Amino acid sequence: MRYKLIISNQEPHFVRIETIIQTRGEHFLKLQLPSWRPGRYELANYAKNIRSFCAINNSGTELVWKKLSKDSWEISCQGLSEFTICYEYYANQFDAGASYIDSEIVYINPVNCFMYVDGRINEPCELSLEIPDSYKIACQLKSDNKLIKAINFDQFADSPFMASSKLLHHSFEESNCLIHFWFYGIETLNFRQLEEDTRNYTRIQAKIFGEIPCPEFHFLYPLLPYKFRHGVEHSDSTVIAMGPANEFGSPDFYDDFLAISCHELFHLWNVKRIRPAEMFPYDFTRENYSELGYIYEGVTTYYGDVLLKRSGVWNWEQYSSSISSDFTKHYNNNGRFNYSLANSSFDTWLDGYVPGVKGRKVSIYTEGMIIALIADIMILKSTSFKKRLDDVMLALYESTFKLGRGYRHKDYQHLLEEISGTSFKSYFNDLVFGKGKYDQYLKEVLELIGCELEFFKTNEGLFEVNFRKMQSQSVEQEHFFKTWLGEN
Ligand SMILES: [Zn+2]
Repeated sequence: MRYKLIISNQEPHFVRIETIIQTRGEHFLKLQLPSWRPGRYELANYAKNIRSFCAINNSGTELVWKKLSKDSWEISCQGLSEFTICYEYYANQFDAGASYIDSEIVYINPVNCFMYVDGRINEPCELSLEIPDSYKIACQLKSDNKLIKAINFDQFADSPFMASSKLLHHSFEESNCLIHFWFYGIETLNFRQLEEDTRNYTRIQAKIFGEIPCPEFHFLYPLLPYKFRHGVEHSDSTVIAMGPANEFGSPDFYDDFLAISCHELFHLWNVKRIRPAEMFPYDFTRENYSELGYIYEGVTTYYGDVLLKRSGVWNWEQYSSSISSDFTKHYNNNGRFNYSLANSSFDTWLDGYVPGVKGRKVSIYTEGMIIALIADIMILKSTSFKKRLDDVMLALYESTFKLGRGYRHKDYQHLLEEISGTSFKSYFNDLVFGKGKYDQYLKEVLELIGCELEFFKTNEGLFEVNFRKMQSQSVEQEHFFKTWLGEN
């Protein structure tokens, strides 16, 4: 597929897209626009942003077309060796997964706005950008001469880019990977502390998996003028949109910025490579239901925070404050008595990204994090501190992605049991497929590490939960606590 992206200044936020398609003698070809994007497991229906769709032959004559579904088009192309699809895309949503264009920046998530020919998703893709010469381009793919090339549509769809003359760039090598920061929305930045913190949490992740699986990794950081927080993972990059930009220097903002960055980097393995079999490969045309969100988001949420503590970027106060807010969410959601994590994961496609009906469901992020913590402590205990969840994730990476396949629930359970040497049957029955059983597990693992939950009632009748160290930890508890946090 050959694409062209043209900025038209006629109307704000509209971009013109052309797709040149070679036929193979077909009478009809079906063009498909993705209906969702990996990282957000719900339908997005990007086709609603398309205006003035048309198909033309090389002399400019319009071809007959009709819609086959909300996001697919059938073009009548009998007798043609090549034709072009043209449309305008409304790019006016600045978050980590959408597209946005104004006079300063072209920010595109190709999964939103480019189509592929049905049955030809594995063909190479090439995008030529008609943008000002002064623009720098931040993207995980090479972009020589304003040309972005991908080996197939999957890689292309997974490669967002920012193009602007106002990008700040900084790069350094860590664990055999060239790491790039690309900032938009801030004029100057002292990269010293950020580089050091990023090195520390990157190094510990590389150590868990034995490697960083890409030679270069790009952090794309659009900073917005208003309060905002959103990150999306990609195979060799991440987009993290945060705001307000003028608070970048404040400790709370910076802590949160590090937490989301460490989380998204962990996705480089967990979901971009260690991926549920139901999404290996992704099917862009429909829901890719999976019960495994407690792994791809839950385990990632656990590591996103705990690795900042284990790598020394955060102190205990920073980590306990972050995890306390997760427990606060947990105890204020009666969904834990009503719906399992596995079903809540399946239902992200239904109402996973809105509060939804009160108490209907749990969160793959929050409850997924809690049961990952439980698993980590259970493994440390049963192996006398020789193994932990790190070893399970490494084994999952090696036994699935490295062998070219996705994983299933039974792969994860098998590895948990093999590595810990104990049964995880009741863990899965109670915490993944059951409901309302978190407390009994939490009581046990928190006792082991010498921690406890302190509850306060707010004026609105909600819980506020404080995850804290016990006043007096026993010698065994202190040893466990320190081992868990990598201090021994
Ligand atoms: Zn995530």
